[in-house]
Amino acid sequence: MGAWCFADHYGPVSMPGGTAMDVPPHPHTGLQTVTWLFEGEIEHRDSGGVHALVRPGEVNLMTGGHGIAHSEVSTPNAEVLHGVQLWVALPDASRDAPRAFDHHVPAVVPLAGGAGTVRVFIGSLPGMDASPVRTHTPLLGVQVDLAPGASVRLAVDASFEHGLLVDAGTPQLNGTPLASGDLGVVDAGPDTLSIETGDEPVRAVLLGGTPFASGIVMWWNFVARTHDEVVDWREEWEAGGERFGEVIGYQGAVSRIPAPPMPPLRLLPRANR
Ligand code: MN
Repeated sequence: MGAWCFADHYGPVSMPGGTAMDVPPHPHTGLQTVTWLFEGEIEHRDSGGVHALVRPGEVNLMTGGHGIAHSEVSTPNAEVLHGVQLWVALPDASRDAPRAFDHHVPAVVPLAGGAGTVRVFIGSLPGMDASPVRTHTPLLGVQVDLAPGASVRLAVDASFEHGLLVDAGTPQLNGTPLASGDLGVVDAGPDTLSIETGDEPVRAVLLGGTPFASGIVMWWNFVARTHDEVVDWREEWEAGGERFGEVIGYQGAVSRIPAPPMPPLRLLPRANR
């Protein structure tokens, strides 16, 4: 949907007394990462010098255009970890952007008739405060919480493609039934989305954006345009080159994640829809 190029729903993962997540320093290029938690707490460190705690209901957006490295470790406060990891592909004009990090706590906005709440963490919905988080293409990211038996029509930008990533409950998106972990997709065109809930409450993340203009090659943690770019970036990471910088303060046993070997084929751009 739009520049959203990766969506991973995880948890709830319970690790009493242990570490639910420990991801040593690894590189990214050509993207922004969005960490959005429902439960738990993650300690983030990156080679832009940012050290931040990621908490539920707070958006953390890391920009790694030219190149960045980061580590993510759940804290002792996080015996349960539960959330989504999202990637945004950067357009040609800004895919070489410098490292940056944005943090924002969106308001919890009630919907009419007690149907539920929305939290607009990226972009805007009509009649609500826009998120100040900086994006490079028109984008939407919203946590939607709905009560049992709710029937909601959300006004949306008709030029956007949309996706509803379901965490809990069994909503119907424009009449199509979805379950936990499903991503329901609606092509650009409609200016409203209908979401109906069943007997259980629904928690989901609504994503949207204008159709992305470029074909992208995604491999490991890199968002590129060609196979050869991926090869070059992989070699720079393996060589410890300056493109990705250094993550200070990560305490794990392994100082960095080595890149996997390239597959024995040429990577092709993902087809535009
Ligand atoms: Mn990462």
